[in-house]
Parts: sequence; structure tokens; C-alpha cells
Amino acid sequence: MNCNIGVIRGDGIGPEVVSEAIKVLDAVAKKYNHTFNYDEILMGGCSIDATGEPLTKEAIEQAKAADAVLLGSIGGDAKTSPWYKLPADKRPEAGLLGIRKALNLFANLRPAYLYPQLKEACPLRDDIIGDGFDMMIMRELTGGLYFGKRETREVNGKTEAYDTLTYNEDEIRRIAIRGFDIAMKRKKKVTSVDKANVLDSSRLWRKVVEEVAADYPEVTLEHMLVDNAAMQLVKDPKQFDVILTENMFGDILSDEASMVTGSIGMLSSASLNDTKFGLYEPSGGSAPDIAGKGIANPIATILSAAMMLRFTFDMDKEADAIENAINKVLDEGYRTIDIMPAPGKELTGITQVGTEKMGDLIVEHL
Ligand code: NAD
Repeated sequence: MNCNIGVIRGDGIGPEVVSEAIKVLDAVAKKYNHTFNYDEILMGGCSIDATGEPLTKEAIEQAKAADAVLLGSIGGDAKTSPWYKLPADKRPEAGLLGIRKALNLFANLRPAYLYPQLKEACPLRDDIIGDGFDMMIMRELTGGLYFGKRETREVNGKTEAYDTLTYNEDEIRRIAIRGFDIAMKRKKKVTSVDKANVLDSSRLWRKVVEEVAADYPEVTLEHMLVDNAAMQLVKDPKQFDVILTENMFGDILSDEASMVTGSIGMLSSASLNDTKFGLYEPSGGSAPDIAGKGIANPIATILSAAMMLRFTFDMDKEADAIENAINKVLDEGYRTIDIMPAPGKELTGITQVGTEKMGDLIVEHL
């Protein structure tokens, strides 16, 4: 197969981890007889430095022309980077919001999977972890509070601010359909998270999700209020398969779920629209604190590349091969610094490696 992949290396550790993902993709191409063509796209801080804009029209056109985009991460240290002296719509993060909107990427998928080899990194008690957990957070990405009308104004001599949370039924239906489709490929359970006891937008969310559920009789649907969901994620994460939720709830819960796995450097993500196109990126940020040191964990980005093969290119066996190779490398005790056992824990059989070595090991095990 001939695939055109847009590559946004971005800032901080982005270029380091993307290089390793491309190394793995090239090895997959060789082994399975595919051709991956890469088109380098500028976005984020590096784009500001080169063009004055975090995301240019040209970059959007390049992304639109690709079958899928692989992104490292964008942004810098908010305290020291000159990018954060710019107005909000000119900062690196504006590039991310802009590309999601321009490509209509309304569905964000974030797996939270506890690798048995990394159980030690999970902050939860052993009896809660049990045999581990494996959930997929499906977050609506282009509607709700982050895109609604907002204003800060003076009223009767006092400053007040408001934000609005709006969803229409079509926006809810299309993400719900995606959520149920994914559940069909997994354990066939959807937990729809809302705040229907208070919010009108949540009551509409619940109604539309129930309508969609009627078309998926094999999938079990449950509703959960967001405050309870935040609790249940640390009390009994095993109960979840697909968590389906709106933009802001998903933003918060997906970070909580990733922390519960204990290893941000292991978590991939995908943002999809209603075609096969997807933007694939690690869940973590640009980690300016470790950028340039060659120690970042490239696995989240490599797993994002595997998600790209699975969801955009329907290359399930190639994606499986990457995931299996990562498992073998972990089984053999190789760890980047972020997934090393905590100080004082057993180190027998564990070898610490840097970014490039981790990429090489995964290629070797393919
Ligand atoms: P972060 O995820 O970059 O870092 C949090 C902590 O996790 C740091 O200690 C970092 O060293 C560590 N970490 C993250 N990824 C790692 C990896 N692959 N290997 C090893 N350690 C890793 O979050 P932050 O510090 O809040 O944000 C830094 C910058 O990233 C900010 O500018 C923020 O806006 C940006 N950001 C970008 C994205 C994105 O590009 N999608 C997402 C989140 C944050």
C-alpha cells in the first residue's frame, strides 16, 4: 500500500520521539511491503519561529492532502519561552486547536492501558489494579465549552466572565456512533459520562446517546455523572471499556485515566473526523524539561503510529506487530527513565535506555 503521511515534529521532545516512530514505520514498510511517503509540516512554536504563525494556511493544506498526520507535540515552557508573550491566538497551542477545527477532528480517542510489566508505576493499590485495566476514552473535540461564545465584561462596575456550552444533536450523534463502533471491536460496553442532573446540554447528550445505542443491541450502555466517573476511575478502573463524553469532561477524565496508568510516555491518542483521516499523537506534551537530552520515552508516539496503521490504513496485523514488539521489549526489562521502577524497588533484569535505543529495540523485535 502507498500511504501519504503528514509529519509534524513540533517542539520540545516532539522531533526526538517522532524520529523513532518513523524508524519503526520504515521497518514496518520494509517487512510488509508498503510505501510510506512523509511530508514535513510545521506547527506550534517552530512554526512561529519560521513564519510568525503557529499554523499557516499552507500547513493546513498539507495536512488536508495527507492520508493521516503523525504529530510529536507542540509548545514550550510557559514561564521562559517567548512564545507565551504572544496573544493567545498566536501561541503554539492555537495551532493545535486550529488544526482540529480545520480538519473537523471531532472524535478524540485515548487508550488508558495498564501494561502488566509496568504495574509498579500505577499509583493504585494492588487489590484495585487486579489483572489490570484497559479502557478507551472517546472525547468530543470540536464542540462544547472550549468553542462556545465567551466574554469578559464590566457589569455594574464589576468584572464578570462567561463561557457557553452548546451541543447540537448531530454533534452528539456522530461522536456517539464512533464510540459504539469502537466498543463493538472491544468489550462491548459504553459508559456515557455527563452531568444530566444539572446541565441541559447533558440531558440532550443522554437522549441522543440512547437513540444511538438502540442501533447497537450487543453493546451495554450505562450513564454515569462526571463527578462519579472521576471517583470510579480511581476506585475501580477495571469496570470501564469505552468512556464516551463531551469535550471538557473528556479533557479532565482522560488526563486522570492516563495518570492512573502511571506512565504518560506510554499513552497514544488519535483524533478522527468522519473520513478515514486521523491525527495521531502521544497523549503527553512537549516535555521541555527533558527536551534535547535523548531520554524521552518514544513509545507513546510509536503506539500512535500503530493506531494510525489500524484506524486510517486498516493495517491491523502491522499495528499488532508494533504492539507485540513493544511488549517484548518491556518483557526483556528495557525501560526509559520515566518508566523505571521507583527508587528503592527491585532493579534486577531492568536496563535503562534512551530514546534512540528504545526505538532500535522495538525495530529489532518487529
Ligand atoms: P508534559 O506532558 O509535556 O510533561 C509533563 C511531565 O511528563 C514532564 O515531567 C515530562 O518530562 C514528562 N513526560 C511527558 N512526556 C514524556 C515522555 N514521552 N517521556 C518521558 N517523560 C515525559 O506536560 P506539560 O509540562 O504540562 O506541558 C509542556 C508543554 O507541552 C506545554 O507547552 C503544553 O502546552 C504542551 N502540550 C502539548 C500537547 C500537544 O502537543 N498535544 C499536549 C499537552 C501539553
